[in-house]
Amino acid sequence: MSERFCPRCASPLAQVELGGASRMACPDAVCGYVHWDSPIPVVAAIVEHEGRVVLARNRGWPENMYGLVTGFLERGESPQQGVAREVKEELDLDAKATSLVGLYPFERKNELIIAYHVEAAGVISLNEELVDYRAIKPARLRPWKFGTGLALADWLRSRGLEPDVF
Ligand SMILES: [Zn+2]
Repeated sequence: MSERFCPRCASPLAQVELGGASRMACPDAVCGYVHWDSPIPVVAAIVEHEGRVVLARNRGWPENMYGLVTGFLERGESPQQGVAREVKEELDLDAKATSLVGLYPFERKNELIIAYHVEAAGVISLNEELVDYRAIKPARLRPWKFGTGLALADWLRSRGLEPDVF
């Protein structure tokens, strides 16, 4: 959602052309605020646990929708620390090794997904954000065509699997 009032001086924002795009900006030249609408970074984990990839269902998601563990970073935290923290918080698993899979723009939510493969150990225990999970053998995963699904597809290819994308 775009902002309607300047967060600095509370003037109503106006549409302006800036840097080749239409943006909301403060009409007060002294204030000069521009709502750049830059994407927010989100970390995502392809959690590998006992040879399977753990997909989780968030509270409020449709019955058959399962996805990667994702989350926002805390101030001062590295993405690698952040993804390990999210895996601990959401699944109660300990990250033993993390490696970057890639960066994926997710335009619909205006996010930049920072995807990691996380080798995790422990006993799965879901936190209150999650209602269910599935542990799926890599060869049986069918990545979705947007956002974190693109990361999952790339990771499967890096393991020599040709994913059946849906
Ligand atoms: Zn302003």
